[in-house]
Amino acid sequence: MVHYRFATEEQIELANGARKICEDLLRPQLEELEKADGGRGRYPMDVHQALADAGYYGMNIPEEYGGLGLDIVTRAVIAEEIATVDSGFAFAFTNAGNYFNTIMETGISEDEKQRWAMRILSGEAIGAFALTEADAGSDAAAMRTSAVWDASTQEWVINGVKCFCSNGPIANFFFIAAWTDRSQRASKGVTVFLVEKERGIQVGKKENKMGLKTSETSEIILEDVRVPADHVVGEVGSGFTKALAMINEEGRVIGLAYNLGIAQACLDTATAYAKTRRQFGKRIIDQQAVGFKLVDMEARTQASRALMYEALCCRRDGKELGILPNLLKFYCSDCTMQTATDAVQILGGYGYMKDYPVEKLMRDAKIYQIFSGTNEIQHKNAARAIAGRDPLMNRK
Ligand SMILES: Cc1cc2nc3c(=O)[nH]c(=O)nc-3n(C[C@H](O)[C@H](O)[C@H](O)COP(=O)(O)OP(=O)(O)OC[C@H]3O[C@@H](n4cnc5c(N)ncnc54)[C@H](O)[C@@H]3O)c2cc1C
Repeated sequence: MVHYRFATEEQIELANGARKICEDLLRPQLEELEKADGGRGRYPMDVHQALADAGYYGMNIPEEYGGLGLDIVTRAVIAEEIATVDSGFAFAFTNAGNYFNTIMETGISEDEKQRWAMRILSGEAIGAFALTEADAGSDAAAMRTSAVWDASTQEWVINGVKCFCSNGPIANFFFIAAWTDRSQRASKGVTVFLVEKERGIQVGKKENKMGLKTSETSEIILEDVRVPADHVVGEVGSGFTKALAMINEEGRVIGLAYNLGIAQACLDTATAYAKTRRQFGKRIIDQQAVGFKLVDMEARTQASRALMYEALCCRRDGKELGILPNLLKFYCSDCTMQTATDAVQILGGYGYMKDYPVEKLMRDAKIYQIFSGTNEIQHKNAARAIAGRDPLMNRK
């Protein structure tokens, strides 16, 4: 059920269609997917393909390239509905097919861009974005991956190891951030490259995470991987700003739709349970402490959704976002974490058991306070902006 009050008929229809596919194909196999690969989890390619066949993959690809050209608000309404079934899948699926705009910023030919559009729309092309390294997390500028220009072959030669790459194990193309000029600050010395897997990218350790098991995460290893000059995204040296903008403007805006799906699922599950569970001769929802908790969960979820759709509408209409992505990132993810904890509490001992869904929802909720820039970093950057300082000024 779509909860965005201003959703159009078209948005509701599209979101319900995606939800139905996920209810039918994804929900029945969630338990098995969580346990797969020794508990590391597995991305369900069958659900991926079913959604792609129904037109839900690469939804931002413009009509002139064969796509639906859906705006960011519509995509978020759909993403939240998918996320109420499984947030990890919503995150992995949406990200994997969301890189066409970045491909358009490379120097490849128009024919190649058309082919990329077709490959994405068919569901075959799966993308990933790799910025983080073992010693460069919040301080992304501390990355060591480098790209050196080989004038003899007219290629960039990339070396480095990226970690925590979402979709790393299943992706067949990557956007890799690398130093191209160490004499400069990161904002001038880092470049983002489009790198197809067949150019030599190796997948390293696959992570065994607390939650989000349907989104596979791994190390990515590049040893003398060569790409032509036209694989640079934008200008050489513009990569750090570009990478942060990609995370900020998309990741921290539409990204919270995957998080809100968890909050809504917690609310729905806890409300239904509280209406049937009886203690002391009455339904627990009629105990004031439980009823008030549900109301607080509802208030937090509605406030998060309102903030998210304000940010999404600004993004869609080309309005300045300011610190909205930072506020949205920490506010919404903190609210959802609290809501998930409350849902477990309302289900009591059963909430702590894997037989009931809220245990998984709580594990899934935690990551949203960490990735796409931790909530502490969001506070730091928002505070710098409020103080009138450039949040990137302290970068090396
Ligand atoms: C499941 C998962 C998927 C991910 N997917 C991707 C991906 O696809 N691509 C990618 O590039 N990265 C990805 N990441 C990386 C993610 O963005 C980083 O984990 C995150 O930015 C934090 O970096 P870190 O883990 O090294 O923590 P650290 O930077 O070491 O931080 C540790 C703690 O210190 C705090 N801290 C650090 N510096 C400050 C400061 N200046 N002020 C206040 N507090 C501070 C942090 O808030 C945090 O609480 C993913 C991570 C995970 C866990």
